[in-house]
Amino acid sequence: MAETGPLILVIEDEPQIHRFLRATLPSHGYRVIEAMTGEAGLLTAGEKQPDLIILDLGLPDMDGLEVTRRLRQWTATPILVLSARGQEQDKVAALDLGADDYLTKPFGVAELLARIRVALRHAVRADGSQGPPVFTSGHLRVDLVRQQVFIDGEEVHLTATEYKLLALLVRHAGKVLTHQQLLREVWGPQYSVESHYLRIYMGQLRHKLEKDPTRPRLLRTETGVGYRLLVE
Ligand code: CA
Repeated sequence: MAETGPLILVIEDEPQIHRFLRATLPSHGYRVIEAMTGEAGLLTAGEKQPDLIILDLGLPDMDGLEVTRRLRQWTATPILVLSARGQEQDKVAALDLGADDYLTKPFGVAELLARIRVALRHAVRADGSQGPPVFTSGHLRVDLVRQQVFIDGEEVHLTATEYKLLALLVRHAGKVLTHQQLLREVWGPQYSVESHYLRIYMGQLRHKLEKDPTRPRLLRTETGVGYRLLVE
């Protein structure tokens, strides 16, 4: 087991998930601590101050949403929620409450490790350091200082709202943002239920940025949840 890597707290009542994570994470440089209930998870989080929390939404003693809410009262540690099929609404609610990302069971090792890396990178930035002022992914380049967007080196003109939406996704690149979060940040709190705005503007952005807007490679739809800008 790694002795100095990032510390991950797993709050989950299913022994097979613990076994899977225990077999996977240490060999990739992470240290793992485990809790089988929400209450134990909250206590352990306070005691050990983990770098990341993997939280199952279906716990025996407490709703995973309640755990998220209580964690967010005192810590900004990234939370990656695990949800089972049929928990779509809980998953979205957890993200709206401040969880960072989600994985739907069953999930694979590659997906798990990718999500952990993105969440930890965001945690470092939340500490106050700036992300790079120029973002690139595939054929897209966004200069956040000059507010310019390029596809294969050619500048693309975006409207003010399109740029605001893209810049928000860029600042959270790799991470899922819910419909509500995007609407609130770009249009304002009173628009948090107008998801058709988002569909229209995302369509326009894809039209301008994607090689094939019908098969987006950058601006991914997370069905029933929101959108994610892929990092390549
Ligand atoms: Ca469970």
